[in-house]
Order: sequence, then structure tokens, then C-alpha cells
Amino acid sequence: MSGVDVNLVLRSTRVVTPEGTRPAAVAVAGGTIDAVLPYDAEVPAGARLEDFGDDVLLPGLVDTHVHVNDPGRTEWEGFWTATRAAAAGGITTLLDMPLNSLPPTTTVENLRTKQQVAAPKAHVDTGFWGGALPSNVKDLRPLYDAGVFGFKCFLSPSGVEEFPELDQEQLARSMAEIAGFGGLLIVHAEDPHHLADAPQRSGPAYADFLASRPRDAENTAIEGLIAHAKRLNARVHVLHLSSSDALPLIAAAKREGVRVTVESCPHFLTLTAEEVPDGATEFKCCPPIREAANQDTLWAGLADGIIDCIVSDHSPCTTDLKTPDFASAWGGISSLQLGLPAIWTEARKRGHSLDDVARWMSAAPAELAGLSRKGAIEAGRDADFAVLAPEATFTVDPAELFHRNQVTAYAGKTLHGVVRSSWLRGVRIASDGVLAEPTGRLLERDR
Ligand SMILES: [Zn+2]
Repeated sequence: MSGVDVNLVLRSTRVVTPEGTRPAAVAVAGGTIDAVLPYDAEVPAGARLEDFGDDVLLPGLVDTHVHVNDPGRTEWEGFWTATRAAAAGGITTLLDMPLNSLPPTTTVENLRTKQQVAAPKAHVDTGFWGGALPSNVKDLRPLYDAGVFGFKCFLSPSGVEEFPELDQEQLARSMAEIAGFGGLLIVHAEDPHHLADAPQRSGPAYADFLASRPRDAENTAIEGLIAHAKRLNARVHVLHLSSSDALPLIAAAKREGVRVTVESCPHFLTLTAEEVPDGATEFKCCPPIREAANQDTLWAGLADGIIDCIVSDHSPCTTDLKTPDFASAWGGISSLQLGLPAIWTEARKRGHSLDDVARWMSAAPAELAGLSRKGAIEAGRDADFAVLAPEATFTVDPAELFHRNQVTAYAGKTLHGVVRSSWLRGVRIASDGVLAEPTGRLLERDR
């Protein structure tokens, strides 16, 4: 018990806890979960009761891979629109990627600039990854001490010139530096040589784009990354895994005790190369969406625990940058508000439960980032929740999304799972698509 009085009780016949889904009443005191009680537990005097009936009470989702692009490219997104979209989609914590904003999050000064911009706009709790560049090894420790959750790097061109990639020597140097203070390196793993050797054909055909980003580029980069991590005993995380061919490598490394974790994304797990229409560059991202058979193997990797978590890699841009030429269009898929229903729609078809979804989309990303107060409905954690009607369906209308640019690969899809409300530290922040005033906090790494 917290010593603060219980002021709120949330009740549902289906509460998703780390021990499984059951009827329960969740007592909240001062924004923290005080206790998870039997469904019919007496409501303390003075506490408000919210009964969701058969709607499911999930832990608020934690999305550790979001490109907010603020400040600098706010016409692409921004903290106001991104965090509203997150709240509407059941996400109560997000971590912002260090690139595409100007400045990028590569020095303490730049981090402070980003925090100042984000603070008044954050509808959900918001934290920051730092960036590892060829030129900023000296900035990594100060950034870590200033509260970033870890460091992102690229091994192939990032798409923006202010965020250059690391070659193998630079990767080893940054990884050693980060491992030296116990930090985490998160990696966009595509090998530049394999990309350079792949056929590059411009135009509207998705098959040409897919051929330009071969699985080998991912497999080779991941193999190299694992070798460095093993040698340096470093903690590394593979971002947005698309190539299922890399799963045996990763599984073997995990068995050997190499400290490697892996994420995949809703687009790799719910969309397929076969269905991408010509010129439909809202489906373009790097690495790319691959074939249906690849997707089946990724789901097997999730079921086996080789893939740890599912995060959005929401990476929007303005409509004009999504030209119908796959070679020149901006790469990035917009999905922040839709990740939960997209994944749940596919997961239920494949026989998975909401317990699995909560593990992949809340507990595991919270653990990745070391967010010990997030990621589960249990006493002592923040009272962050998503209330989901899992049997209800809706058809994605881009005009109803809170993203700044309403371009999405999910347009017109009918999805299972309607987010009824989201709660942040015991406060309702979204309710049937109506957003409250921002109450999100800026998060720093647990110390
Ligand atoms: Zn990304």
C-alpha cells in the first residue's frame, strides 16, 4: 500500500495482468496502481468507480520507436499531433527517435532543445533516444547522464544528411563506449555493401523496390552486429526486423548469452509485399515489407520469443514526399494510432491472445527501455491503461487519424479492436476519440 488514499477503481471482467487475464478491480492511488483486487472488492469510500464491463483493461502501450520530427520537420509530425495519435491508439508512453528532427538528439544541448519543445505538447509520457554518429562519441556519456534511454545508429544511409551512418570501425568504437557505461545501442541493421550491390530500379513497381533492399542486407548487418556485441559484451537491439532469415542467427546468439533483443513492426506483421499496389509508396519503408511467407516466419519468431517486442516505427512525412516512384519517395510508414488494432486483428487470426499482445507491445518495450514503472498492471506501476473493445471492428478512415499527415498504408482496412479510452497515471487522456489537455511528462532513463 502506498500511503496515499485510493481515489479511483477501474473494473473489468477482463483485466490483462502479468499472470493472465481475469476479472479484477484495479485500485489507483495518486496515479500509481495500489493493488489489483478481486472484481467485486469493496470500493473504498471517496474513490470513484469506473466499470468497463466486458471491455478489456490492458496496460498502456509503450512505443519505443516513434519519429516525432519536432522541432525542425514539424510539417511531417510534431509532439502535439504524435502524442494525441498515441493516446487515441492506447499508447501511454513513447520514446522519440533521435533523427529527422532539427536538431537531431546527438548532444546534451540538442536534447534540452527537444525536451523544451516537447514538454507543453506531450499528451503521453515521452522520452528520448540519443543518436550515435561518427563524430559524437564524446557526447554519448553526457547524453546518457542527461537521461536518454540509449543510442540509435545506422549502418547504411539514414535518409537525412545530418545523421550519417557508422562504418564497422565506428560501430565498434561507439559500441565499446556505450558498453563501458552500461548503455544500450539500438541499430538500423542493413548492410550498405549489399544495398549497393542490389539492383536499383526506379518506378512504381513494388517488386523493384523490394529487390533493392534484399534480405541479405539485413542478415549480414545483424550477423556483424551480433559478432561485435559478443566480443564487447555489449547490449544491442535490432530495430524493425523484416527479414525472417535472420531469426536463426538471433536465436543462436540469444542461446549463447549474447545480449541482443529484437523488435518488429505492425507493417511487417500485417501487410505483405504481394498486396502493395503499384505506386502506393505509403507502403514504402526500409527495410521493406516482404512476402507473406516471410511474415508467417516472423510470427513464429514472436511465438518463440526470438522477437521480443512490437513497436510502430511511425515515420511520417508530408503527402508530397510520397511520390509514386518507390526509389525517390520518402520511406516511412505512418501507423502510430493503428498499431494495436492492426496487430490484434492479425494476432487473433493466428490464435494469439491479448496477453501476448500486451507482452509484445507493453511489457517487453518497457523492459527494453528500463521503464520499471510502465508495462504491466500490477501494484507499484503507473496507472496507465488502454481500454479495448476487442470484438468491435472499424474501417480505417485516414481523415479520423490524429497524425499530422493522414497518409497511411492501412487506409480502408477493417480492423478488430476499438480503443475506447486511454489512461495516464490515473487520468483519462482519451475517450472515444476525444482528447484531454496534455498531461504527459518527460521521461528520463531510470537511475
Ligand atoms: Zn525508425
